[in-house]
Amino acid sequence: MSAVVIDGKAFAAGVRARVASHVARLSEEHGVVPGLAVVLVGEDPASQVYVRNKGVQTVEAGMISFEHKLAADTSEADLLALVRALNADPKVHGILVQLPLPGHVNADLVINTIDPAKDVDGFHISNVGLLGTGQKAMVPCTPLGCLMMLRAYHGSLAGMTAVVVGRSNIVGKPMAQLLLGDSCTVTIAHSRTRDLAAVCRGADILVAAVGRPEMISGDMVKPGATVIDVGINRVERDGKTRLVGDVDFASASAVAGAITPVPGGVGPMTIACLLANTLTACCRAHGLPEPE
Ligand code: NDP
Repeated sequence: MSAVVIDGKAFAAGVRARVASHVARLSEEHGVVPGLAVVLVGEDPASQVYVRNKGVQTVEAGMISFEHKLAADTSEADLLALVRALNADPKVHGILVQLPLPGHVNADLVINTIDPAKDVDGFHISNVGLLGTGQKAMVPCTPLGCLMMLRAYHGSLAGMTAVVVGRSNIVGKPMAQLLLGDSCTVTIAHSRTRDLAAVCRGADILVAAVGRPEMISGDMVKPGATVIDVGINRVERDGKTRLVGDVDFASASAVAGAITPVPGGVGPMTIACLLANTLTACCRAHGLPEPE
C-alpha cells in the first residue's frame, strides 16, 4: 500500500487565494485593509527566514505588513513598549512576536501583553482558555492548518481515534484541543509515554510534533491511518542540509492511508492560517462578517 500524499502546498495556496479575495472585497466595500505586525528580536537564521516569508505572503494577500526587527539585546521593557504601541495602533489587526525570544526576555509576559483580539498566533492565555473551553478563540496557526487538512481529507472526524505525539503549548496541546473539539477520541503522548509505538498504532489520526528527525517509523503507524507530520528538522545528508519531518516518510507512507510530506505539508499551511487569522481579527475589529 502506498499512502495518498496530502499536498499542503496546494492546499495552502487555496487558503491564501480565498483570503486574498476576501481582503480585496474588504478594501473595496469598506475601505479596510488588514495589517499584520511581526516582531523579530535578534538574528536567529530560521526565524529570519520565517519572518521574511510571512512578510512576503502578507503583502501578496493584499494586506499591510509591518516588520519590526530589533537587536538581540533589546530590553524587555522596550519590547513591551513596542507591543503596547502595536496594541493601540488601529492599522495593526494582528501582532506576532516571533519565538524563540532571547533568554533575558520573559516570553510569557510579552505574549500576554499582546491584545488577545490581535493575538493571531493564539498563544495569549485568554485565547488558550477560550480554545480549551470550546469558545471562539484565535487558534494557533500550525494546529489550525493541520485540522483544516484533516477536515478536507476526511470530512467529519467524529469518533476517530487521534494520537498527538508532543505536548507543547504551541502545537501538541492546541492540536489535541482542536481534535477533541471535532469529537475525536484523543491521546496526547510525550517523552514519558510508555510503549509509544503501541499507543501510536492505535491511531486513526497520528500527529507527530516531536522535533526529532524521522522518529515515527512505519511500524508505529496503523495500516490506513492518516499521518500529519508537523516536524521541521534540519539534518546533514551527503554533505547537504536537508529538511525532514518527525516521521520517517519512506516507511510510514508504505503503511499509512494518507500522509503529509516535509517540506510541502504542514509548513505552508501555518503561514496561510496566519493570514486567515489576521483577516478574521480585522473583520472582528471592524464588526464585519468573518470569513468562513
Ligand atoms: P517542543 O520541543 O516544544 O515539544 C516537543 C514535544 O515532543 C514535547 O512534548 C516532548 O515531550 C515530545 N518528545 C520529545 N521527544 C520525545 C520522544 N522520544 N518520544 C515522545 N515524545 C517526545 O517542540 P514543538 O512542539 O515546538 O515543535 C515540534 C516540531 O514541530 C519541531 O520539529 C518543530 O520544528 C516543528 N514545528 C513546525 C511548525 C510548522 O509550521 N510546520 C511550527 C511549529 C513547530 P516532553 O514534553 O515530555 O518533553
